[in-house]
Amino acid sequence: MIKLGPAGLLSYCATFRLGLSSGPYLVVFLPTLRCNARCRACDIWKHGKVGHELTFAEIKALFDQMTDLRVVKITGGEPFLRSDLSEILNYFLNERNLMVQVTSNGLLTDKIVRSVRELASPRLHICISLDGVGKFVNDLRGIPGYYETVLDTLKGLVHIREARRFFLAVNQTIFYRHVSQGAELRSVLAGLGVENIHYTVEHNLFCSGVGEAEKKNYWRSVPREDFLRVKEVVDRLVISDGVRDIAYKYYFRGLENRVLRGLRKPDFKCTALSSYFRLYPAGEVLACSVITKPVTNLRGADFREVWVSPAMERARETVKRCEGCWFGCEVVPNATVSGDIIKGVFYR
Ligand code: SF4
Ligand code: SF4
Repeated sequence: MIKLGPAGLLSYCATFRLGLSSGPYLVVFLPTLRCNARCRACDIWKHGKVGHELTFAEIKALFDQMTDLRVVKITGGEPFLRSDLSEILNYFLNERNLMVQVTSNGLLTDKIVRSVRELASPRLHICISLDGVGKFVNDLRGIPGYYETVLDTLKGLVHIREARRFFLAVNQTIFYRHVSQGAELRSVLAGLGVENIHYTVEHNLFCSGVGEAEKKNYWRSVPREDFLRVKEVVDRLVISDGVRDIAYKYYFRGLENRVLRGLRKPDFKCTALSSYFRLYPAGEVLACSVITKPVTNLRGADFREVWVSPAMERARETVKRCEGCWFGCEVVPNATVSGDIIKGVFYR
C-alpha cells in the first residue's frame, strides 16, 4: 500500500475537513483496459480499445487542473501496454511531484525495467501482481510461462532498485483453497530480495459478473473455515516476516470482524467522489470499484466546473446513502483521510 508523506497527508486532511479542498487527493487512473493476461476471474481486457483512450495531452490538461492532488494510483488493464506510459509517469512524478503507484502484471519485462530505470524516482511505487508459484499462477492468469516471466521482471527490477531508488512490492491475493501459496511465494521472493508483499484475499478479486450488492457484502459468503485458514497463514507471515503495515492491519482486522463476528468494525465514512475517484481510460468518472455506473466524463472538461456540477453532487448523495463495503482499495483511502486508519497501530 502506497505511503504518503505525513506532511502532505496532514495538510490535505486539514484542508478536506475544513471543506477547503477543491479536488481529490487521490485518483485511481486506468489509462487502458487492454491487457496481455487472461485471468480467470476478469474480463476487463475485453473492453480495452486503443482509439478511445485519453491521449497524453488530454491527461496532462485534465490533471493540471487538480491542484490538491497528492497521489495517483495507476492500474488497468496492463498500464505498460500504453506506448506513452513513461511520459505519463514522468509528468506525474517530475512535473507534479506526486506519489505514483503503478500496478502491473509484470509480463512486459524489458519495457517495465527500462521505464523504471529511466524514471528513477523515490516517489515511484511499482507493485507487481503475483499470487503464488509455478503452474498454479500460470493456470490462474491463463498464460503459459507467466510465472517465469514475472520472476524475470522482478529480478530485473531488484537489480536496478538500489541505484534507481524506487519502491518495489508484490501484490499477492491469497486464495482460500490454496493458502500454502502464501509461504511458498514468500520464500521465493526472499531469495530474490523482494521483501514487500501486499496481501489481500480472494473475494477482493471480483472483476466481473457480480452485482453491487454482492460485492458490498462479499464477506458474508466467505466460509468461516476458509477464512480461518487464510488468517492463520497471513498472521504467521506477518509475525515471522515483520510485515508491520498499519493499513494492512486495519483492513484485515475489519475483514476478520466481519467474517467471524458479523461486526462492521472498524468502519469508515465514505469520501468517494470527494477525496478520491476512479478515472477510466476514455475519461469516465466512477465513484469506486463497486459502483460501476459512470457519473460523468472528464474528456476535454473544465475539471473545477465538473467537480461542483449537479451530476457530481447527486452522485455524492448516492455515496452518502451507500451501506458500505470492505475492499482494501476503498478502505485505505477513506480511512486515511478520516484518520481512522491510526487504529491499525494498535491492532495485533
Ligand atoms: S486481473 Fe489484471 S492482469 Fe488479469 S486479465 Fe484482468 S486486468 Fe489483466
Ligand atoms: S462505501 Fe464508498 S467505496 Fe464502498 S461501495 Fe459504497 S460508495 Fe463505494
